[in-house]
Amino acid sequence: MTARRAGLVACTTCCKVHHPGEATCLRCGSPLHSRDPAGLQNVWAWWIAGLIMYIPANIYPMLRTASLGHETQNTIIGGVFELIAYNSYGVALIVFIASVIIPVGKFVAIAFLALSINRASILSARARLHLYEVVEFIGRWSMLDVFVVAILSALVQFEFVANVHPGIAAVSFALSVAFTMLSAQSFDPRLIWDTDEADPT
Ligand SMILES: [Zn+2]
Repeated sequence: MTARRAGLVACTTCCKVHHPGEATCLRCGSPLHSRDPAGLQNVWAWWIAGLIMYIPANIYPMLRTASLGHETQNTIIGGVFELIAYNSYGVALIVFIASVIIPVGKFVAIAFLALSINRASILSARARLHLYEVVEFIGRWSMLDVFVVAILSALVQFEFVANVHPGIAAVSFALSVAFTMLSAQSFDPRLIWDTDEADPT
């Protein structure tokens, strides 16, 4: 039994349950919708914004290092190769996973979830809910790459007479992560179960 099947509407802000017909929550005044009609649009809007910001994050330098008048710039992938060249395989792997595998995986997962609404899906509703939970869980760890840049800056500052500045890519990457998190948050996981209920199988 779900609230929707019982003909009730729950406030998404304070969780008070209402009979249908109320336009706003009687307790906190938030607008009441059984399902937000613009929910999926918000998901796609943030998703596209995140994808757009992910492009400069990869083509512009993540780090600008100036050492004794000699300046080097590194993109994310360039940084990974440089770390491998310095035999820092572990850090290279962390940077690669945090800045390539996880963001791309998130874009694919959110798009897959949004597309599977109102459609027959190859994954069961339970599997899709797990996928959503993983995407939500990863969200808070996605800034790892920005932290890696911050830590690298600190390390380089210690070792050489050098100046390290985060490049344009660091800002773009942080924005891309923030936008994908908003995209995942706009997604209403109850929609997964709605499709399942409508489906007689
Ligand atoms: Zn409320």
